[in-house]
Amino acid sequence: MIYNEIINSINEIKNLGYALSLLNWDQSIFIPKNGVMSRANVIETITKIAHDMLISDILYEKILSCTESNDFKNLEEFKQKEILKIKKDVEKERKKPTDLVKEIAKTTSLAMNEWEQAKKTGNDEKYLPLLNKIFKLKKEIADAIGFSDNPYDVLLDDYDENLKYKYIEPLFNSLENQLVEIINKIEASKKHIKDDFLLRKYDKNKQWEFGLCILKKFGINFDSCRQDISTHPFTTTIGEYDVRITTNISENNFIKGFFSTLHEGGHCLYELSVNNHLNSSPFATISSLSLHESQSRFFENIIGRSYGFWKNHFNDLKKLFIENLNNVTLDDFYKAINKVKKSPIRTESDEVTYNLHIILRTQLENDLINDKINVNSINDFWHERTKKLFNFYPKTKSESYLQDIHWSDGLIGYFPTYTLGNLISAQILNAMENQMGKVNDINDEKLINIIKWLDKNIYKHGSFYSSMELVKISTNKDLTHEYFIDYLKDKFFEIYN
Ligand SMILES: [Zn+2]
Repeated sequence: MIYNEIINSINEIKNLGYALSLLNWDQSIFIPKNGVMSRANVIETITKIAHDMLISDILYEKILSCTESNDFKNLEEFKQKEILKIKKDVEKERKKPTDLVKEIAKTTSLAMNEWEQAKKTGNDEKYLPLLNKIFKLKKEIADAIGFSDNPYDVLLDDYDENLKYKYIEPLFNSLENQLVEIINKIEASKKHIKDDFLLRKYDKNKQWEFGLCILKKFGINFDSCRQDISTHPFTTTIGEYDVRITTNISENNFIKGFFSTLHEGGHCLYELSVNNHLNSSPFATISSLSLHESQSRFFENIIGRSYGFWKNHFNDLKKLFIENLNNVTLDDFYKAINKVKKSPIRTESDEVTYNLHIILRTQLENDLINDKINVNSINDFWHERTKKLFNFYPKTKSESYLQDIHWSDGLIGYFPTYTLGNLISAQILNAMENQMGKVNDINDEKLINIIKWLDKNIYKHGSFYSSMELVKISTNKDLTHEYFIDYLKDKFFEIYN
């Protein structure tokens, strides 16, 4: 049957994707220095084979004869949707001109090098023309694929299927106004929160053990998962029952390692569960990074930075690090891990100020793709917006637009998924609490019940729904910024009196 043939082909391509994930994972963790060059060639070859299979005329003809045949209507609805999803993905890929795709790969590889230099030295003379070219090429890709309203939508779709800028813009505008108000109030409180004890020497092995112990409480089965160390923490799926996560532990900063372990743990739970429910279906992926991020941030922030979680876990931590935490109370600790401090650097930001960084980047991406501003004036734009949002100017270009790796790597349309993830996580919390009662005393049993709720309402659907559809189905409301704002006000106005 033609349906089976199509699914088999897609699963073969998926297997090549798993092989690529394994090669990339190894490259970030174990590869000897001299293996890097030949590894790049292996990755390039397999990527090409997988891509050729995806855009092959044979596969596309099978898809068309399946969807155009009279039997199609007789397929069960789930299978019809599977084929239509594959059709959309294949058509999108087939519309991209091969030369343009190669040109982007070449330009981003050069840009990554120049970006590293520019970030170090602050001299962006060689980098800026490359960045200009990346935005120009991405615009060409959007034109080739086609759009009805805004070329930026085509790029957003790569990271969150069917996401449109017209949904994001009003959401982010309202969010910005309310965030600025909250931050002003926190600053006006003049309350000083002590957090120096988080920066004392924390034994790396003990940190590793403590993190793993919490992940096991999440119910992560370490027969289907492993954790390693890498410079930038990430999660990758190598097979249906094989998800790898990494963390980065710093001896002088407890927060960094522990919260990145929780963050990747959230991604891992989602990946394992999706595969478990949908295994060989094309929906056994998470095609919305906003949803993916909502889960990592749910465990990192909503659970991991909550009073209810530490009420049940602070004593265990204190026993491990008695030399650092002897005179620290649960209350001191909770406030320290939630300290609000405006920073020019996105990745060093707290739960409240973080989203202003994303709002700035999202608006800038949309303006650049739509030629409302020129790449050459990117630094001026950044200065002006930083002053308006944070009330300070970045001191250097490395504190300004050179801080993130994303654009050099061609990742345009990726940033908004971070903030959408935060908004979704708070809306999910609200829906969960409406059914389960307040999530304020997070012991082991509660933790398992929370994960069961997520499994039933979010994880099991994979990418059957778009992010906005799934939010509506699981919370009974369209995505709004209001639950996130309420969450921030409840939490931070109490911390800052
Ligand atoms: Zn993440």
